[in-house]
Amino acid sequence: MVSQPTFCVSIDLDDLRYYRAIHALPPVEDTPIIFEKALPRFFDLCNKVGLKATFFTISMDLQWDEAKQALKKAIADGHEIASHSHSHFYNLSQLDRCEIITEVAGSKTELETQLEITVKGFRGPGYNLSPTLLSVLAEAGFTYDASILPSPPYWAARASIIAGMRLLGQRSSSIPGRGRDFFKSRNPSKWPNGLMEYPITACGPAMMPLIGTTITSDSLMRNHIVRCAKRLPFVQVEFHAIDFLDIVHDKLDPALAVEPALKVPLSTRLASFEHVLSTLALGRQTPVLAEIGVKR
Ligand SMILES: [Zn+2]
Repeated sequence: MVSQPTFCVSIDLDDLRYYRAIHALPPVEDTPIIFEKALPRFFDLCNKVGLKATFFTISMDLQWDEAKQALKKAIADGHEIASHSHSHFYNLSQLDRCEIITEVAGSKTELETQLEITVKGFRGPGYNLSPTLLSVLAEAGFTYDASILPSPPYWAARASIIAGMRLLGQRSSSIPGRGRDFFKSRNPSKWPNGLMEYPITACGPAMMPLIGTTITSDSLMRNHIVRCAKRLPFVQVEFHAIDFLDIVHDKLDPALAVEPALKVPLSTRLASFEHVLSTLALGRQTPVLAEIGVKR
């Protein structure tokens, strides 16, 4: 448990190619757009509210100079860089041990070498874990995982969308994942191998997830989630880089409007995110995930 009320902010740097794959859209060559367009807006938001965040980074993106520059700025500003694997395979948890080591330990080494930092945290693509993945994380020297999203409705909705797409003959790259992980505690805990777990918050009677998609505007759902979250000792909001992009401003493929966040005007989203972050930060310590429990 955390000793004081704690609020953490994290962002997963998933590129647009992964959304195309989830929604079975034809692949197109990807660009570093999330680093060029989304991250400056996220930096502004963090500065306005006075918060530092944890950036879950797909290490193959270090191939782009734009990515390296943005991540170096994040580090200089006091944010934390953590691993979101090397290639963001949605079925990472189902791969064999050697492949998992390459993806997980490999991404840690790449991030550490290229950015001259120590990487402590990991989040699995699609929030999916497995016993092998958890043991590889500990062996590779990670100190915490942040993959758990204790929201049964999220898990059920995702599984039904994947099944529905199959019925239509479409294949999503996403997988339903291990159901029991979506019923776990929303407080920090320790896995038997000593790895800490810092879950993303889900709350209210419906256990709605506190993620970019559910807090895009001043709605009954957003206000309900925030009210419930304010009563919890540990709160972690999770954004995705796509939450900070806009179909028109950023000239995205209009087919990406299947993503719920992109249906809301960017200015509305940014104002809502600022409101939620400042409300939840009030009266709490706000460390990056790697610094939870570290005495300063
Ligand atoms: Zn991801």
